[in-house]
Amino acid sequence: MGINVALDGPSGAGNSTIAKMLAKKLKYVYVDTGALYRSIAYYVISKDVKPDDAQSVNALLGEIDVKLAYEGDAQKVLLNGEDVSDKIRTPEISMGASAVSAIPEVREFLFSLQQNIAKENDIIMDGRDIGTVVLPNADVKIFLTATAEERANRRYKELSEKGDTSTYEEVLQDIIQRDYNDTHREIAPLKKADDAIEVDSTELSLEQVVDKIYGIILDKTGKTEKAEKRVSARKLPEAEPVVRGKKLNPIKMIFYNILRPIVIFLFKCYYNLSYEGKENIPKDGSNIFASNHRSYTDPVLIAMPTRVPCSYMAKDELFHQNVFFTLLIKAFGAFPVTRGKGDTAAIDLSMEKLNKGRNLVIFPEGTRSKDGKVGKGKTGVALIAALAQVPVIPVGISFEGKLKFRRKIVVRFGKPISAEELNI
Ligand code: C5P
Repeated sequence: MGINVALDGPSGAGNSTIAKMLAKKLKYVYVDTGALYRSIAYYVISKDVKPDDAQSVNALLGEIDVKLAYEGDAQKVLLNGEDVSDKIRTPEISMGASAVSAIPEVREFLFSLQQNIAKENDIIMDGRDIGTVVLPNADVKIFLTATAEERANRRYKELSEKGDTSTYEEVLQDIIQRDYNDTHREIAPLKKADDAIEVDSTELSLEQVVDKIYGIILDKTGKTEKAEKRVSARKLPEAEPVVRGKKLNPIKMIFYNILRPIVIFLFKCYYNLSYEGKENIPKDGSNIFASNHRSYTDPVLIAMPTRVPCSYMAKDELFHQNVFFTLLIKAFGAFPVTRGKGDTAAIDLSMEKLNKGRNLVIFPEGTRSKDGKVGKGKTGVALIAALAQVPVIPVGISFEGKLKFRRKIVVRFGKPISAEELNI
């Protein structure tokens, strides 16, 4: 789980502009949830359905596939594959979004999409119910407000610059109406979460608001500005390819080879465990195993058939749970990676482990998939393999439902992919 910042507030308080600027400054992913509601409104209007006609809107939900895609800093909204990012920014769609957002099925439809994005990345997500409903455990919650008149003023200027002919009065009426809709709807109404910090932007410039919230985020996440700068300023390590075929400490090898058959025996008694493609596992060390991530037993499942001990890249959060657990995972070769940040220290450590002749296990999805669906992989594996010039062995772990006694588990090892084949 990355760092989650929830930014809520009424329409036109500058949420999206400010969230975008903050995301850029913090190198987080910006998630504009309003765009999702707007896309639904755009679709139903294009089908001549009134956005407040809940029954007809619900009947159309099955036809809608909405996704957020990122190109550099820019967020694009793809509706059934079409880029609608600009088309959803009209006053008609704003009102439509406000209407569809009051329909419980629409909110439910978008709920998991928003949560999944937040799971994978350091994000700043702006909306109405992010701190209260979508991410109730967000690390930082901001509630951004401004008077209706000030918000109408800003929105009016923005629309006029785009050539829209709406008058200031019309824009103000729209804002007041949307405020009313958003705060009075039954489901997930706009309200400040109890633990959110309110920032009133009426008298502040854009930069002042950004600075203020930036300070709050650094404060709440325990980071300092210096630390942030240090992370972004660090260069990728200049790495020498590892020398393969190194022999590991003989005492550790004896210990490992005594422990391994015991663990295999215990696992085979408890689970209905089988392996495929064991012939693809190199006999020597300094290989990367890139696996899907199903459960906390995955590291053991991968290590059992490998004759050389493995080190594991594990999310930093696991090292802050309890001392015993931290000591245990460290003893078994885990080392931390801060996800979503291009953690160069974790790359240095990976190189060090591979250089010692150990194998390295990485779960490119970054987090466990409880339902078994394989998520999008991060590219760090290829980077490390290219720097170290070592092969990557793909691993697939599959079992139905949850792990329990005599559950059938199949672990498959694919053919090694050489560093040259990775072509980076
Ligand atoms: O933020 P934006 O103005 O693009 O949002 C459009 C509409 O979508 C809002 O007026 C609000 O009714 C709805 N919305 C919502 N919950 C969110 C984001 C937006 O209800 N998280």
